[in-house]
Amino acid sequence: MKIAVLPGDGIGPEIVAEAVKVLEVLGLGLEMESAPVGGAAYEAAGHPLPEATLKLARESDAILFGAVGDWKYDTLDRPLRPEQAILGLRKALGLFANFRPAICYEQLVGASSLKPELVAGLDILIIRELTGDIYFGQPRGRRTAEDGPFPGSEEAFDTMRYSRPEIERIARVAFEAARKRNKKVTSVDKANVLETFQFWKDVVTEVHKDYPDVQLEHMYVDNAAMQLVKAPKAFDVIVTGNMFGDILSDEASMLTGSIGMLPSASLNDRKQGLYEPSHGSAPDIAGKGVANPLATILSAAMMLRFSLGQAEAADRIEAAVKAVLAQGLRTPDIWSEGTTKVGTQQMGDAVVNALR
Ligand code: NAD
Repeated sequence: MKIAVLPGDGIGPEIVAEAVKVLEVLGLGLEMESAPVGGAAYEAAGHPLPEATLKLARESDAILFGAVGDWKYDTLDRPLRPEQAILGLRKALGLFANFRPAICYEQLVGASSLKPELVAGLDILIIRELTGDIYFGQPRGRRTAEDGPFPGSEEAFDTMRYSRPEIERIARVAFEAARKRNKKVTSVDKANVLETFQFWKDVVTEVHKDYPDVQLEHMYVDNAAMQLVKAPKAFDVIVTGNMFGDILSDEASMLTGSIGMLPSASLNDRKQGLYEPSHGSAPDIAGKGVANPLATILSAAMMLRFSLGQAEAADRIEAAVKAVLAQGLRTPDIWSEGTTKVGTQQMGDAVVNALR
């Protein structure tokens, strides 16, 4: 089992080091090899995703990714900016299924902006299609309008599209995931207005015939946005397209109150995956030893479960994270009165100790 370790920029190296420590203590004989990515790779090799890093990623079963980006790279040409590394990896490896769990840990209920009774015990999974939709559809661009309310004026346009196989494969991913959870899938669309999402709804309904043990409901995206803050616990698995998923997964992540706790996975059809915290490189706190490493540690748990077939080890990591929270240990982002403030390394050490 080979893992490409790509720490990246900002707090990336600090939080990835803690996740690596946790993986090592499991004694699974994982082969881990590091390579630069993002701004660090631009500094070292003149490109955010150098050929050697991409080669390592391709040859690995999974990628453990920290974060990329820093304001100092904002003036670079777009293809050289750190964020291009993630897009490049998604494209090169065909990572079409993005998993974003939103779990509200009992001890952190107070960090949510919603009432505790709405979020206590929350455990939902958003599955976002990651390589299609209006974000990638062609043609796109600017032109002179031929019709519409202002013919002859300058206009911009994008193309929303999904092919049948793209919808079928993400629907299957969602039904399979629901089978391992509470057996309910909510497919989010805008079928009342958009042809693309009427098609989406039809195809998801067809695929559902192969999963009679899983309950399927359809919901318009505007209603889903409301229900996520009204009764989030009514969801189990949400599956949706690239753009709706982008927005809803960020909304759902905030229900839990802390971005430092949220892992994510992006998988291809060979179960090869890129695992990263949902947050960015946090340049404002980089190098201070205060970043919360738990989202990255929980991403490593997802990696064991989804790409490496080590579900038991993943359960152990997740239990260890709950144990350190129960001990009252908190990095500053999740700290509250009456708990013990710790730094990045101390938090990682505490998870390692809980595993031992
Ligand atoms: P961010 O997620 O990096 O930070 C937002 C806020 O959350 C900051 O105050 C930060 O200190 C805090 N934060 C984030 N992670 C934390 C952690 N683990 N522990 C404690 N606090 C944490 O988002 P941003 O500030 O908008 O972006 C910063 C840089 O990250 C930009 O260059 C952006 O492009 C990049 N970015 C990268 C990714 C990625 O690598 N996948 C994702 C989002 C943003």
